[in-house]
Amino acid sequence: MAKYKLEYIWLDGYEPVANLRGKTQVKEFDSFPKLEELPMWGFDGSSTRQAEGHSSDCMLKPVAVFPDSTKKNAALVVCEVMMPDGKTPHRTNARATILDDPDAWFGFEQEYFLYKDGVPLGFPPGGGYPPPQGKYYTGVGYEAVGEVAREIVDKHLDLCLDAGINHEGINAEVAKGQWEFQIFGKGSKKAADQMWIARYLLMRLCEEYGVDVNFHCKPLGADVDWNGSGMHSNFSTKYMREVGGKEYFEALMAAFDKYKNEHIAVYGPDNHLRLTGLHETQSIDKFNYGVANRGASVRVPHSFVKGGYRGYLEDRRPNSQGDPYKIASRILQTIATVPTK
Ligand code: ADP
Ligand code: MN
Ligand code: MN
Ligand code: MN
Repeated sequence: MAKYKLEYIWLDGYEPVANLRGKTQVKEFDSFPKLEELPMWGFDGSSTRQAEGHSSDCMLKPVAVFPDSTKKNAALVVCEVMMPDGKTPHRTNARATILDDPDAWFGFEQEYFLYKDGVPLGFPPGGGYPPPQGKYYTGVGYEAVGEVAREIVDKHLDLCLDAGINHEGINAEVAKGQWEFQIFGKGSKKAADQMWIARYLLMRLCEEYGVDVNFHCKPLGADVDWNGSGMHSNFSTKYMREVGGKEYFEALMAAFDKYKNEHIAVYGPDNHLRLTGLHETQSIDKFNYGVANRGASVRVPHSFVKGGYRGYLEDRRPNSQGDPYKIASRILQTIATVPTK
């Protein structure tokens, strides 16, 4: 028997963006605990905008578990928030009700800024701007990325891999202090669970550096020539990968056009500041698609067309604060309206 540190992690009731919360309990197990072995737990919902003060207990139901390599015998436990009966999903628990399909694959490209003392890492602390965008994207050297960011993103990559998360890569982004990582998963819940844990690990790691992760989609505002942050969502169903075809693709894109407002509604707040038609985006009120077009709502990879309109597509509209549970579910909902043969 050994004592395991179980960090229970959930989403709170703040709007429009839920915050990650976590607290740790210690339990004894023979070996690294399986999901079925993890008990339900509770928390004070009145402190997380999930309950009124007079009856404030909410329940935490473990739904996924990952090793935490930063500590001896430690686990990161993804939880759904439940009502006190332990059975009814809390109204803030999107995960409980989303569409899922284990054969639908999602690749999320999470962009974000690292912030210190209220400005992006590398911006002059007293105000003003560093040299304009150009050399930062995938850049190397102190002038491009500073002295600490790479250590953070590389450590984050290792933490994710240690946890068994399908972290697929990193790049420095277009703005100074802006970075991206990619997470791939099969099934909307699996992919999104991994994204939320990857976000948690990044935020927790940054504590050591006195650095914050700013996930806002346009932290520097819409009036300046600095990129915003997205969470491009790449997706493919079994049918898209194996059958596909031009006719199906066009019907799919027509459905995406029809439901464009419903998509934007779950693609993250303040997206009108980011989806302006500039900085590699399409404007928020338009839907279009294009082969290799980074100014389109949906980018069609070359490989998709070459492979006979089979493979995955990239929805470029979701932003960096979007909830991957809701994004993946909305994509599946629209796909479900298009008949397959
Ligand atoms: P870019 O920056 O050029 O848009 P990235 O390499 O950052 O592209 O991201 C591509 C994403 O596409 C990755 O997250 C990857 O996991 C995802 N992806 C690749 N193949 C598939 C697929 N068949 N279904 C869903 N996502 C996929
Ligand atoms: Mn990318
Ligand atoms: Mn990017
Ligand atoms: Mn992309």
